[in-house]
Amino acid sequence: MKIVLATANKGKIEEFKKMMPDDDVKTFKELVGDIDIVEDKDSFKGNAVKKAQTIYDEIKKSNLKEDFVVISDDSGITVPAINNEPGIYSARYAGINATDKENNQKLISKLKEKNLEKTPAYYTACIAIVYKDETYTVHGWMHGEVVNKEFGTGGFGYDPMFIPNGFDKTLGELDFSVKKEFSHRTKALKLAKKVLDVIL
Ligand code: IMP
Repeated sequence: MKIVLATANKGKIEEFKKMMPDDDVKTFKELVGDIDIVEDKDSFKGNAVKKAQTIYDEIKKSNLKEDFVVISDDSGITVPAINNEPGIYSARYAGINATDKENNQKLISKLKEKNLEKTPAYYTACIAIVYKDETYTVHGWMHGEVVNKEFGTGGFGYDPMFIPNGFDKTLGELDFSVKKEFSHRTKALKLAKKVLDVIL
């Protein structure tokens, strides 16, 4: 069974591949090339479903001979003290095609505007699964705090600013084993695997 990841985000691809070392995981780009999917839904779930269904339809059209399942991930960070920003806009907080660095700088300036050195925050991941024209979704969360400075270079996205509950360092500084055990994506993937166990 081929598992096709409906994401072009390098950080997510790396994490999924590390979390599923025994599976035949491919990115959609490797199978059907570049596809630009506009994330215009108003929830993580809406965008995750749109990504997974779009890629599923493209692969179906490509007449792939093998049995396949498509998995997408829509995720982001929510900071209640600044009106729940950036939430579903995490990837484009500083503008369309913004880099992780630019998004982090925008979050840092928003925190500084409110004189917040540190404040609660959480990551959300919605994974959508499409198999034999049916769609399933699961969610996972990771709670902690964001700080108004970047520390470390590990992980991706907002990781250098995020301190998970129970730790005193950011995900940029901590070993990947922490994310592998406790992250929003890991929790969602554990549920996704339960769904796959039933449907495959
Ligand atoms: P998406 O591709 O629209 O789901 O964008 C997800 C964005 O949320 C990424 O570009 C990151 O900015 C952020 N994000 C999601 N998951 C993580 C994570 O595990 N670490 C850091 N940032 C993340």
